[in-house]
Amino acid sequence: MNTLSDDQILAAFRSIRCWSRSDQRAPHKPLLLLLALAQLQRKSGRSLSYCNVEPRLRQLLLEFGPRRKTQHPEHPFWRLQNDGIWIVDSRDSIRQELTSSGDATADSLRRHQANGQLTNPIHAALVERPELVNRIVTDLLDRNFPPSMHETLLDAVDFQWIYEKRRYEKRTYEKRMRDPHFREEIIRIYEHRCAVCGFDGRLGLADIGLEAAHIKWLAAGGPDASDNGIALCVLHHVLFDRGALSIDEELRLLVSKDLHGQNHVETLILAYSGLPIRKPQPGEPEPDTRYTAWHRREVFRGPSRAITL
Ligand SMILES: [Zn+2]
Repeated sequence: MNTLSDDQILAAFRSIRCWSRSDQRAPHKPLLLLLALAQLQRKSGRSLSYCNVEPRLRQLLLEFGPRRKTQHPEHPFWRLQNDGIWIVDSRDSIRQELTSSGDATADSLRRHQANGQLTNPIHAALVERPELVNRIVTDLLDRNFPPSMHETLLDAVDFQWIYEKRRYEKRTYEKRMRDPHFREEIIRIYEHRCAVCGFDGRLGLADIGLEAAHIKWLAAGGPDASDNGIALCVLHHVLFDRGALSIDEELRLLVSKDLHGQNHVETLILAYSGLPIRKPQPGEPEPDTRYTAWHRREVFRGPSRAITL
């Protein structure tokens, strides 16, 4: 068996085909791969049983995927085989029962006790060079999720940076440095204040806890443009990226009905529900409705609380 190079392996993971239609997010395959790679990193065995992985993947899709009427963890488990990096055993029995669109049903995968795993060449290379797992995981995160979500997601799949953590930190640092203009511009046009709560803390001369959020994620093809950015404090940024908050057509703050809590939730979040966000300086572009519509559709965990103003 020829050993695959690092570049070949990274390219194989980068070229997985994610279902796409009119700008909709489909993080199914990346989430399944994160589960598989986390298990590999923990040395907890190579294959994933569909019966075990189904509830975990369903939960990840609910938490980190776009809001959908139904979740289909069976789709990535079967379809990832078409990308040349994943195999499912009991294939022949399952093939007898495929749907007209060529998919295995969840019931079929469960009855045949299907197990999925990375292909032999990929698995062998990752066992031999475990630091590659970190690079693949970093790549999967960058391509599918905003940075504010990365650590939470890694905790959710129980992934640990065991090897070469320094490399990961250096790479994210370099990434942040690649695009200083977007952050500076957004913070400047929003007057160095959170567009939701007005927080404008400074430590010495520098802003602290204030960030430039992409409305349509970079990972989803959103541009580094002023009309796709909004200045938010750290708290409101995380809530915005996780879909607890969004913005309506009239730039009023939407708060998910699913968001709840006892301490400070009323004063820090619910108090702003339905209020217009702070606009950028006159003459500067406001958030574009294309991007806010994408955020409501693909990120927001609606429905929103009623706007009673
Ligand atoms: Zn804020």
